[in-house]
Amino acid sequence: MAAKIMVRYGEIALKGKNRGQFEQQLYRNLQAAVVEYSKEISKIHGRFIVTGPEEHSEIMIQKLSRVFGVASVSLVRETELDIEDIKTLAAEITKKISSDDIAFKIETRRANKKFPYPSPEINRIIGAHLQELNPNLVVDLKKPSFKLSIEIGYSKAYLYITSTAGPGGLPVGITGRSLLMLSGGIDSPVAGWLSMKRGLFVEALHFHSFPFTSRRSQEKTVALCRKLAIYSNKIPLHMISVTAIQKELNANCPEDLGIILLRRMMYRLAEQLSLKRKLQAIVTGESLGQVASQTLESINVIDKATGMLVLRPLLGLDKKDIIDIAATIDTYDTSILPYEDCCTLFLPKSPVTKPKLQVIENYEALLDIERLLKEAMSSLETTIVKRD
Ligand code: ATP
Ligand code: MG
Repeated sequence: MAAKIMVRYGEIALKGKNRGQFEQQLYRNLQAAVVEYSKEISKIHGRFIVTGPEEHSEIMIQKLSRVFGVASVSLVRETELDIEDIKTLAAEITKKISSDDIAFKIETRRANKKFPYPSPEINRIIGAHLQELNPNLVVDLKKPSFKLSIEIGYSKAYLYITSTAGPGGLPVGITGRSLLMLSGGIDSPVAGWLSMKRGLFVEALHFHSFPFTSRRSQEKTVALCRKLAIYSNKIPLHMISVTAIQKELNANCPEDLGIILLRRMMYRLAEQLSLKRKLQAIVTGESLGQVASQTLESINVIDKATGMLVLRPLLGLDKKDIIDIAATIDTYDTSILPYEDCCTLFLPKSPVTKPKLQVIENYEALLDIERLLKEAMSSLETTIVKRD
């Protein structure tokens, strides 16, 4: 027998035309999430039904419950729009429930108002039927030990007992395309995840200083992208070498300004890549006050290097909140692997915390910025990281 999985999505924020777009994008993303198992997705009364082989129902539920826009997912049984058929199926489903679970509740949602019984009536009829079959059952609306849900659609009725929560948010791709600056630390993968949650398609950009940084630190960013790709199906990962830039900065600029100057170069490179890839915003894992380059003054000076919109989804989060999300999305253990990052190389003993834009620009005037950017862009390597 084929398994049927019902996918519910958040409806609260959906208005008018947005709804159609939301559903279309969600449909495509659901398809991509289970493509190995199912090609059959249909839409019924504000839900999707995914049909696939029963032996894959668990893995399909897991994959569907990680698609942004999904509110919850349930394995359902389907029956005809007939109260007798619903009774029979309700009895069959609840037979499997442990004999200790006697407090129950029935919840009906009647999307199809042509069905002759209103929801409270259906609850009553099915409840009475179950109690007839098992006199130990008691109705408990407040603290049931199991809940039987019934949905009356336009051509079928659906029954289920359990639900898995989805991640909520908006389907990836619906709000635009962005470039995540992905370092390999704890913060930027979380920033990427939060952007995807608001419907942004994310491409990632990692700066490395090979051979000063190892191949393993690059592999770490591939591993992080693979974790993120669970939520967006795939992530194009771009790598750019900033070795030459760092050498040049080291030779020509004061040590304590190194990080700010490097960051400004990174933003410029991110902007060039965004234009090339038609990406509309840069996303970073910057937060306020975490490190020297994240004072308001520093962020301001760094930000001035680009005319692009820079999103900083972590701004209002404490480190603990960020770590909690990293643990939930399973990037934390990878992020704390001790491979060096290009920013930690040549790290000044005491970086400035209140840089002056004019001073920074004066040093930049001594450099051949255009040539440095061009050379760095020529080191660009791109791979498409797919979800497992
Ligand atoms: P993270 O935990 O993401 O590394 P962080 O707390 O270490 O962040 P910074 O080192 O100040 O903070 O970096 C701020 C942001 O700059 C990062 O979150 C990331 O978006 C970007 N960034 C830093 N280093 C790199 C890099 N090597 N490649 C790409 N982006 C980087
Ligand atoms: Mg870092």
